[in-house]
Amino acid sequence: RGLVSADADLDDHAVESALRPKTLDDFVGQHRVREQLSLVLRSAQRRGRVPDHVLMSGLPGLGKTTLAMIIASELGAPLRITSGPAIERSGDLAAILSSLTEGEVVFLDEIHRMARPAEEMLYVAMEDLRVDVVVGKGPGATSVPLDIAPFTLVGATTRAGLLPAPLRDRFGFVAQMDFYEPAELEQILRRSATLLGVELSQDAAAEIAGRSRGTPRIANRLLRRVRDYAEIRADGALSREVASAALDLYEVDQQGLDRLDRAVLHALLRRFGGGPVGLSTLAVSVGEESRTVEEVAEPFLVRSGLIARTPRGRVATAGAWQHLGLAPPPDAAF
Ligand code: ATP
Repeated sequence: RGLVSADADLDDHAVESALRPKTLDDFVGQHRVREQLSLVLRSAQRRGRVPDHVLMSGLPGLGKTTLAMIIASELGAPLRITSGPAIERSGDLAAILSSLTEGEVVFLDEIHRMARPAEEMLYVAMEDLRVDVVVGKGPGATSVPLDIAPFTLVGATTRAGLLPAPLRDRFGFVAQMDFYEPAELEQILRRSATLLGVELSQDAAAEIAGRSRGTPRIANRLLRRVRDYAEIRADGALSREVASAALDLYEVDQQGLDRLDRAVLHALLRRFGGGPVGLSTLAVSVGEESRTVEEVAEPFLVRSGLIARTPRGRVATAGAWQHLGLAPPPDAAF
């Protein structure tokens, strides 16, 4: 299932740095976030201060890492990149914080997955610019306060609600990253095509954008698969026909659903008459683990308005019947 997953794969990692916009002006979409951020940065610069800590909340692939890099480059500050899971002990965090230079930007991805003691150390660092380093072991251990340089923390999380309130409250600004509009994805695709040196027609961009689940990372990945197809099966130019044939071949449909998504929809409609049906029953009928259905397929199906989660189980919406070209039963509740 790589193609429409919002998580980065190895191939993405290899090309993403080349496709990342480098300035706030080049960053497409997210107008509100961009404007808010630009104000925060500019006013801090005017006052000669280090900007407030920024929390970015949003699903994978929407541009959080990109934005963190842009923040550092707009400030002309060095950037340190780490993640919650990489900080296993508070000492790991102390090592980073105590070596910062003034004004440095620290990007902490998946901040909600940081170990508890490190989290507590971070509260103090964010507010008082201090870390308490424990020296020695056992009863003789003492805590030595250490001043650290003013810095800007850019935290990223898939949901701000996952963070404990005391941590969340220490951010001066929360940037809520949303899915991108088709026109914005088209713009991202055109920019990426230029960087990749491929010719992308306007309607091909629209075709790919429509299947990208509102997510730049997926758009860029689909673009590369369409390019492969164009090189091998066509004359290299990315037309709408080529884009559509390539994505059909990869089983990414008009709405960005892949094979698993469609299998889940099919089972829900054909076997269970549109539901309600329990998650585990549904998962068994498509031969998958419940967790895969719940975490991989369902979020997008729910967001697309194709299925709804109810206390009695999963239910198909009118849109689901329409999407598969089937007639809903006459007694359907919607
Ligand atoms: P994750 O949380 O999974 O690391 P992320 O939200 O940090 O994801 P990025 O790595 O920043 O996502 O972005 C993924 C890809 O999408 C990058 O290649 C980047 O170039 C592209 N991208 C993201 N947002 C934009 C944007 N607004 N304009 C242009 N390209 C973008």
